[in-house]
Amino acid sequence: MSKRDYYEILGVSKDASKDEIKKAYRKLARKYHPDVNKEEDAADKFKEAKEAYEVLGNEQKRAQYDQFGHAGTQGGQGGSGAGGFGAGGFGGFEDIFDMFFGGGGRTRDPNAPQKGQDLQYTMELDFEEAVFGKETAIHIPKEETCDTCEGSGAKPGTNVNTCPHCQGTGQLNETQDTPFGRVVNRRACHYCSGTGKQVEQKCSTCGGKGSVRKRKKIEINIPAGIDDGQQIRVSGEGNPGENGGPPGDLFVVIRVKNHEFFERDGDDILCEMPITYAQAALGDEVEVPTVHGKVKFKIPSGTQTGTHFRLKGKGVPNVHGYGQGDQHILVKVMVPKQLNDRQKELLRELHEMESDETLDEHHDNLFQRMKRAFKGD
Ligand SMILES: [Zn+2]
Ligand SMILES: [Zn+2]
Repeated sequence: MSKRDYYEILGVSKDASKDEIKKAYRKLARKYHPDVNKEEDAADKFKEAKEAYEVLGNEQKRAQYDQFGHAGTQGGQGGSGAGGFGAGGFGGFEDIFDMFFGGGGRTRDPNAPQKGQDLQYTMELDFEEAVFGKETAIHIPKEETCDTCEGSGAKPGTNVNTCPHCQGTGQLNETQDTPFGRVVNRRACHYCSGTGKQVEQKCSTCGGKGSVRKRKKIEINIPAGIDDGQQIRVSGEGNPGENGGPPGDLFVVIRVKNHEFFERDGDDILCEMPITYAQAALGDEVEVPTVHGKVKFKIPSGTQTGTHFRLKGKGVPNVHGYGQGDQHILVKVMVPKQLNDRQKELLRELHEMESDETLDEHHDNLFQRMKRAFKGD
């Protein structure tokens, strides 16, 4: 399924500021909100705009989208999808409802378990590291459940009570008399910040947040054959969940550095091999560099420039374990730019022989064909 470009959806340029993106999204949200717009495709358009904003409105996700397109926002290889999106921490969505629809857009039980936010980390690998994989460790700053209060945010030994203002719902009703009658707005309870809970005394380690920011060492196993733009999902290493919800995941985005003479094409490796005219004409045995070490290769006599050879199994192991790619060699016959007298002499001799014999017939044929073509008969 082809997806529309997020910038196009919001109608902003690639270098739009955060503000412009937000404004563009609000405009679309107002226009297509299903409560307002009863046209058939309004809900889809609303969803599309929301998805675009969830990516472009978030610096990290936007950077990834700019780099990898839609693939960069999919998360994991199993199409596990939008795990990271919308799961809290975004704000934008509810903001808009509060602003334009008097709140109450999404009623969320503040006591319901919530999955923690996903985190993302970009890792740069050398060409060979991507081919063979490696075990490594990274240190990332992340939210960890506070050890002192075990996530409750309350000082140990003190109580966590239900918020008396909202009775634990995390929301307050606000009645307002308008020319159209009485309107009831639901808003997040500001006494408990929508958590529905009140702590007697805040935990001094985390200031009542229930989590603290720490640098955590995480072991990452890079599978052999990984390629630029792919992601590794490290389950459960995102930020901690709330109310006993599961933690988010960590996504390690792989960037592979260019190699001096190898190029990746899926599981295959491409490389150019420069050979001399004499090697091409007479054939030769050469050593070809591969990521698996040097390989002896026989250039057959009469090899033309642009010829492809394949070294079977000398490519990249498939990241999912399905076999191994090949190395493709593209032959480039090099014409010497500088010659010494002896070389010139030999080549002149060769030239005279060639004009007498080998190429004569071929040339004549070609010449005749060209002449005919231009005459049109
Ligand atoms: Zn604490
Ligand atoms: Zn409350």
